[in-house]
Amino acid sequence: MLNDVLDNLLIWFRQEKRNLPWRNNPSPYEIHVSEIMLQQTRIETVIPYYLNFIKLFPNYDALANAQDEVLMKAWEGLGYYSRVMNLKKAALIIHNEYHDEFPKDYQKALLLPGIGVYTAGAILSRSYHLPYAAVDGNVLRVLSRFFLDEEDISLEKVKLKYKYELEKYMNNENASDFIESFMELGQTLCLPSKNIQCEKCPLKTKCKANLFSLQNEYPKKISKTEKKIENKTCVFLYDGVQYYLLKKEDGLLKNMFGPLIFDGHLLQKDVETILIQDGYKIKEIKELKDQKHIFTHRIWFMKGYLVYIKTPKNKKDSFTKDEINHQVAIPTCFQKFLKDLLNEF
Ligand code: SF4
Repeated sequence: MLNDVLDNLLIWFRQEKRNLPWRNNPSPYEIHVSEIMLQQTRIETVIPYYLNFIKLFPNYDALANAQDEVLMKAWEGLGYYSRVMNLKKAALIIHNEYHDEFPKDYQKALLLPGIGVYTAGAILSRSYHLPYAAVDGNVLRVLSRFFLDEEDISLEKVKLKYKYELEKYMNNENASDFIESFMELGQTLCLPSKNIQCEKCPLKTKCKANLFSLQNEYPKKISKTEKKIENKTCVFLYDGVQYYLLKKEDGLLKNMFGPLIFDGHLLQKDVETILIQDGYKIKEIKELKDQKHIFTHRIWFMKGYLVYIKTPKNKKDSFTKDEINHQVAIPTCFQKFLKDLLNEF
């Protein structure tokens, strides 16, 4: 059944595909960077980051030798920062062990940091036309509707089922366009809920969801595990010229700079007491607008304070507005606080 419409799909893709920067005769390195950036992040957001990143680090050699601070700054705002550190670790291995070429061997690719089954398939099929399928949420949505599949598409076994199903039709001629065409379909016509455009779809004559008008019923709604709610208080120290930010050594925001963070929502007087006990001399405290940030598995509701201090405890990790804007990598969750602060001063 799928076989009957695959030619239509490939023809449609070759005619209609969007002109994205990583589709312009890309090297395996450029495909690798684009695939890592596109994990968890929308295409429109990724484009400017991708163009800047490739300009700064045009190949594995440049990336393997990049300073962590510069890398983090180039990634600032994209979130999920472990991605860029894994990208650098992979670049070091590719530079040292594979002469700056992404390995063509699937098992070797899987051993690289940050590369899982999906990313290995995406890079190998797009770079070397090897018949390894990459099945993401877009591909799963298309296939779930096409077959009217009752199974939970978030299950690993369902992803594998479709990976093996698609690989039956892949060969060295069609591998690259094959997977991209399913992704493009999921991103442009077979959309998550509203505006599903079956009338333009190359699969419409065989797609069961279209034939039975059940597009909105599939994929079946899956109850997601609830995100953990956490209250935090963020304290920005400022001496009138510089901000004092701390580098996180571990946890969720490892290697990033940010404010002092306390669990719970602290009152102004509590913040004052804690800072005085810690040796700070305070001139004034100002409450900031509350902020919320949604991570993969948790939501932070944040209270913020700007504390004017007389003398900093140490000058290390102090930054001017300009340095914060251009050199220091600040996690996305604090960006709204900083935007307000930096606009004000
Ligand atoms: S016909 Fe409609 S529901 Fe079926 S794959 Fe195409 S866009 Fe999706």
